[in-house]
Amino acid sequence: MAVPVIEVVGLGKTYRLGEVTVEALRDVTLSIGQGEFVAVMGSSGSGKSTLMNILGCLDRPTAGIYRLDGKDVAEMDKDALALVRSRKIGFVFQMYNLLPRMSAIENVELPMVYDAVPGADRRRRGREALGSVGILDREHHNPSQLSGGQQQRVAIARSIVNSPSLLLADEPTGNLDTAASDDIMGIFQRLNDERGITLVLVTHEPDIAQFAKRILRFRDGRLVSDEAVRDRRRADGDGHGTAGKEGTPAEDGGEAG
Ligand code: ADP
Ligand code: MG
Repeated sequence: MAVPVIEVVGLGKTYRLGEVTVEALRDVTLSIGQGEFVAVMGSSGSGKSTLMNILGCLDRPTAGIYRLDGKDVAEMDKDALALVRSRKIGFVFQMYNLLPRMSAIENVELPMVYDAVPGADRRRRGREALGSVGILDREHHNPSQLSGGQQQRVAIARSIVNSPSLLLADEPTGNLDTAASDDIMGIFQRLNDERGITLVLVTHEPDIAQFAKRILRFRDGRLVSDEAVRDRRRADGDGHGTAGKEGTPAEDGGEAG
C-alpha cells in the first residue's frame, strides 16, 4: 500500500496558560492518502485549527506522532520544516491573508519570491495560477478592489503556485455567501480531481462538507467520527455557481477507502 500523505498516531496537544491547561487535541489517530478530499468538522473550540496548524507544520504536538509522506515531522529541524511548508503544503485561510498594498499577481508571486524563483518565471507561473482559478482578468487589482470570493480565489492561486501536493484550508468559505462559497468549493474539487492535490478543509457548514469525499468530526479534541460522504455535492468549478447534487445513488457504496 502507498504511504499515506498524513498519518497521525495518538496525537495530542496541550496548551498551558499559567495554572490552566487546555487539552486541544486528545489521542487522535488517523491517516489521509494521496488524492483524498477531507472535511474536518466540529463545534468551535473542538480542536480543528489546532490540528490544521500541526498538519501544516506550523506547530508541534505535545504527544503522539505525525508522519508527513512517511517522514516523522518531529525529526525535522526548523529549516527542513520551512522547506516542507513552502514546497509541499499550500495554505488557505478564512480571512484570505492577502497583502493589501500588493496587486493580485504580486500576492500570488510572493511564495516564489521567498523561494528565489527568477522574475520572468514568477510572472508566468503566477498568471497561470490566477488563470486556473478564473481570475486572471483581475491580476492588477488590489485586494480592496476585489470581492471576498475573488480575494479567496487569489489566495488559492497563491497557495498552489509552488505546486504543493497537500492543501490545507481553515474555514475558507467562512466569510463568503452561498454562491461564492460554492464557487470556491468547485475550485477545490477541480484541484483535487485534475491535479490530484490532497485536500484537508475545515468547515462548520454541513453543505460545504458535502463537497468533500470524507468527513472527520471532532468533539472536545477527540476524533468522534470518520465517514465517507454520500450524495457528494458537485460544482462545475467554472465560477457560475451551478453547484448541485451528484447523480449517484447512495447505495453504490460511495468512495472506497
Ligand atoms: P477550533 O478551531 O475547533 O475552534 P481550536 O483548535 O482553535 O478550535 O482550539 C481548541 C482549544 O484549544 C480551545 O479550547 C482553544 O481555546 C484552545 N487554544 C487554541 N489555541 C490556543 C493557544 N494558542 N493557547 C491556549 N489555548 C489555545
Ligand atoms: Mg478554528
